Amino acid sequence: MTADYEFLTVDTVADYVRSVPRLAQRIDPDALVSVSEIGDGNLNLVFLLGDATGRGLVLKQALPYVRMTGEGWPMTPERARFEVDSLRAHHALLPEHVVEVFDYDPERFIIAMEDLSDHSVWRGALNEGLIHDGAAAAMGRYVGAVAFGTSALALERKELAKAVAAAVNPELCLITEDLVFSEPSVDAGRNSVIEQNKKDAADLAADEDFVTAMGRAKWLFMTKGEALIHGDLHTGSVMVRSPEGSTACDSVKAFDSEFAFYGPVAYDIGCLWANYVIAAARAFALGDEPRAEWALGMIQQTWDGFEEEFRARWSDRRDPRVWRGPFLEHLLADWNEESRLFAAAELARRTVGAAKTKDIETLPESIREGAARGVLLAARRFVRVPDAAGAPHDLAVLAADTLRESRTS
Ligand code: ADP
Ligand code: MG
Repeated sequence: MTADYEFLTVDTVADYVRSVPRLAQRIDPDALVSVSEIGDGNLNLVFLLGDATGRGLVLKQALPYVRMTGEGWPMTPERARFEVDSLRAHHALLPEHVVEVFDYDPERFIIAMEDLSDHSVWRGALNEGLIHDGAAAAMGRYVGAVAFGTSALALERKELAKAVAAAVNPELCLITEDLVFSEPSVDAGRNSVIEQNKKDAADLAADEDFVTAMGRAKWLFMTKGEALIHGDLHTGSVMVRSPEGSTACDSVKAFDSEFAFYGPVAYDIGCLWANYVIAAARAFALGDEPRAEWALGMIQQTWDGFEEEFRARWSDRRDPRVWRGPFLEHLLADWNEESRLFAAAELARRTVGAAKTKDIETLPESIREGAARGVLLAARRFVRVPDAAGAPHDLAVLAADTLRESRTS
């Protein structure tokens, strides 16, 4: 595929910054002391620039294909616009917990944003065995702010229509629909597991109740346009920072929201929950029970942060005449139940699908076997929790029991 725009390189980023006057206040292109490509993601180029006075800037450019697989998998670079629009909308609602965008170049699909290189990608920090207390609650608050602030509850009717129309993102949604909801149980040739987990993957695919639940999850994902969700809110889409010697976060920021669209609020919560379970699976595999329990405790923390933020904003809803108290409770109960379903989807796809997690993949095979088995079993059990039952804490207990009994050594 030939692209009709120029890709950034370490040698051209200074010229690029020079060509965008508003970026000159952020960094001095004539005094750059460091320029590196730091993208570790699956999709895009990311450059980190530093100048002589210690200021930094990040440039992220979308390529017309998936970086992980090369030109063989074309993908619209327009995805950068979905990322920018959502980051801006989300930042306006909760600046504390969303990376700040400074500029967007729609011709070259380049986002200029805040340098978070004094933070760590949360997944990496989790895999190193670090603790970042407060991150789970912060991300819950983020989802709560977005759930309210981008929805019909908050936006004027025509503004809402415009926002929904601008966020129609079928190419990226299709990836999720295939990879997250369909392919874990119906292999399209992209799945893989180690030999010892082949039976676990086959059992998942043969589990009628699980597949039926995934059909429902996919339907919800495709039809329930509640809010401008992040769309890929796993622990690799969150940056965390703690002061030296402390386990408490002093900064937590969501980023990388190119999958944003008007979708189900619970998708973001479920995605976070699943990734806590995956972090716990790693801890159990490594024999660190207290850490596993800590990781699973984040399920409740995210929920509490979410609920608190959403309830706090509820008093500003546009039509309190009919959106009364009981409806608030109804919304929260539905989201709790749907979050379980979406968590199950994310657990399954991260284990058998194309995009796996370092949490599990970097474990030695002997213990990775049990971790992957436990995650798949948790996915199958999550969809079986009766609708009305299952507070977030109970889900953590279910996950702990499942992961513990599946452990191998
Ligand atoms: P992709 O869409 O390809 O997954 P990401 O947005 O996840 O790209 O970025 C890839 C990596 O680049 C991140 O995991 C992180 O290490 C780094 N990165 C991205 N944005 C920033 C930022 N604003 N500040 C510092 N590092 C960043
Ligand atoms: Mg990423």
